[in-house]
Amino acid sequence: MIGRKLFLAAMCCLTLVVTAKAQSSKIDDLLNSETAKLVETYKMLHAAPELSGKEEKTSAFVAKELRALGYEVTERIGKYDQPGVIGYGVVGLLKNGAGPTVLVRADMDALPVEEKTGLPYASKVKTKNDAGQEVSVMHACGHDTHIASFLTTAKILALLKSQWKGTLMLVAQPAEETIGGAKAMVNDGLYTRFPKPDYLLGLHAWGSAAGTVGYVPGYFMASADSVDITVRGVGGHGSRPEATKDPVVVAAQIVMALQTIVSREISPLDPAVVTVGSIHGGTKHNIISDEVHLQLTVRSYKAEVRKNLLTAIERIAKGVALTAGIPERLAPIVKFSPSYAPATYNDPALTARMGAVLEKTLGKDKVTKADPVMGSEDFGFFGLDNHQIPGFYFFIGVFSPEQVAESQRTGVPLPSNHSSSFAPPNPEPTLTTGVKAMTSLVLDLMKK
Ligand SMILES: [Zn+2]
Ligand SMILES: [Zn+2]
Repeated sequence: MIGRKLFLAAMCCLTLVVTAKAQSSKIDDLLNSETAKLVETYKMLHAAPELSGKEEKTSAFVAKELRALGYEVTERIGKYDQPGVIGYGVVGLLKNGAGPTVLVRADMDALPVEEKTGLPYASKVKTKNDAGQEVSVMHACGHDTHIASFLTTAKILALLKSQWKGTLMLVAQPAEETIGGAKAMVNDGLYTRFPKPDYLLGLHAWGSAAGTVGYVPGYFMASADSVDITVRGVGGHGSRPEATKDPVVVAAQIVMALQTIVSREISPLDPAVVTVGSIHGGTKHNIISDEVHLQLTVRSYKAEVRKNLLTAIERIAKGVALTAGIPERLAPIVKFSPSYAPATYNDPALTARMGAVLEKTLGKDKVTKADPVMGSEDFGFFGLDNHQIPGFYFFIGVFSPEQVAESQRTGVPLPSNHSSSFAPPNPEPTLTTGVKAMTSLVLDLMKK
């Protein structure tokens, strides 16, 4: 009996392995026949970048492509805090019977950067920013690789419909760079007008080797808050400090006191950053000004650490001003930007499952555990408060393995995201790896 059971178990195991292998070669076949179009689409998108909140043409293209593949498409999803900004979010649904709902996200926006890659399809686009200044535009964060691989993933999954069940929810998100697009889509009824997903998947281009992917279990990227502090004083003549309350000196003390939050108020085991990125006040050598403006970026992983950082910033700003004798009616004004980015958190159980799929699909040597970063992104909004919906987010490499090895050998860093040289020199392995990885993850979560 035991022998027979073991035999059956072994057969079962064998069938699973054979099915997984067959599925993976099926993806390879479909991907091979799509690769030329995938690369062509990428080059077209790369040459035609659009700034955050202005993704009109990119979103229309995504919608048209998804519709042609049989997805139920809704356009112009997104309600921003700022009035008058159009939400260019797109949702494509493919319903395939009872089963889990899986959200796959790709972001569409580009950056005000003048491209210097020298690639034949480099962007020459110029446009006006919100302040009316002419700026160059470039896909300097690789969102073009996200969209191109997303559309091919959409096609392969539509062709492989017999192998999965449930609802596939493809989300093309605007305004990731300005941190607002994901929130705008959720605020516009993403989970009431459409099904609420059981799982979230997202990827991002990164300066590692093309053909590889990387991920971090748990906290992957930090939350980001922008804080504006207006330090108010009593201005006067530079020769008569006794008749004034000098906001420049108070601001200087605030900047130094803020440094003690991370070092003295937050556990050394909880990563956190408080950076004063901008300080402006005064007009001339001999005038003590009325005001100084500070602009801060604040990063952390855990929600309670974020709360403690923000509370401490306000307390310190007001406390230092009070100590300097600034009257209460002129206490510093501390403004927290409503559009913050939550931390990107990879659900541990889902990450273990997805990590195993990636290793099986791409090979163990192509999957690395990346280092967590204090950079931010707004993918976390799709998970709602306290990571209610489990998500998995991973990096795909853009540079050739030779470039990565050379950089390691010489210590000269490769161009980072947002640099005028950040683009895959040969996009094919980056794109095909993105498609293969994402398609396999979806098929695993939705398998029949
Ligand atoms: Zn970016
Ligand atoms: Zn990005």
